[in-house]
Amino acid sequence: MKVANTIASVRKYIAAARRAGKSISLVPTMGALHIGHVSLIKAARKKTDFVVVSIFVNPTQFGPKEDFKKYPRPIKKDLQICRANGVALVFNPSVKQMYHCENLTSVNVKKITEPLCGRCRPGHFRAVATICAKLFNIVQPDIAFFGQKDAQQAIVIKQMVTDLDMPLKIVVCPTIRDGLAVSSRNKYLNSRQKKQALCLYESLQKAKKMVKSGITDTAKIIKQMKEIIRKAGPAKIDYIEIIDARTLEKVKKIDRKVLIALAVKISPARLIDNIVL
Ligand code: AMP
Repeated sequence: MKVANTIASVRKYIAAARRAGKSISLVPTMGALHIGHVSLIKAARKKTDFVVVSIFVNPTQFGPKEDFKKYPRPIKKDLQICRANGVALVFNPSVKQMYHCENLTSVNVKKITEPLCGRCRPGHFRAVATICAKLFNIVQPDIAFFGQKDAQQAIVIKQMVTDLDMPLKIVVCPTIRDGLAVSSRNKYLNSRQKKQALCLYESLQKAKKMVKSGITDTAKIIKQMKEIIRKAGPAKIDYIEIIDARTLEKVKKIDRKVLIALAVKISPARLIDNIVL
């Protein structure tokens, strides 16, 4: 496995892989790798010959009061995980390497970046779209893999790729849960908080059951979901929303494909999860 810290060395390795006729994939991550990331790597290995994992904690996508400084960076362990899972190249650049000049350009995907996490994290998706565009330009993959756990992110990236005619395919892989949707931020939780955090997926399961039983009134479903979260312990609900899975517009009655998504702060972590029905 190769490890590159500079854009120039990534380009060199990619050119060699292309010359050898290999198909290339990219799995963009912020590191602190876990079974969710590994599921993406495995999917990438199935579809392509040369899997690139980027590990970069992107400062611009964190708000001023968010956890950029304390975000876990266990790079040695991450490299071991990549090596054990057949990754061909890890790109682990410094902040200076990725933001090497004035950076007056950004990618702003409109509308679908406004609700959900866009409302609670202003500027977040502009930063995510911009860093992904940069990574796509550097690695030039045939396919990039994203997780359904970050549903809005995957939708935004797909839209950007379509709108800007970027020559790659986006594949979205299912959310991996161990009761709770696995996340690098779960490390912030103690065992009591982890147990409490199970309420996120429980509330999504409750919503699924209600829909299956014929209930279509989204306000009624959201009320029940809130109840489950409140009963589990002290938490701040950023949002619980039922929205059109394509446009991300709010839905009053479930009569189409919907995304049920929630973000809840169980201090000290902000957790998200979602299902599509
Ligand atoms: P992150 O390192 O948190 O930025 O995540 C990198 C990629 O892994 C994103 O596409 C995430 O959606 C995906 N991912 C993170 N956690 C999970 C999970 N539990 N299941 C599936 N994909 C995940």
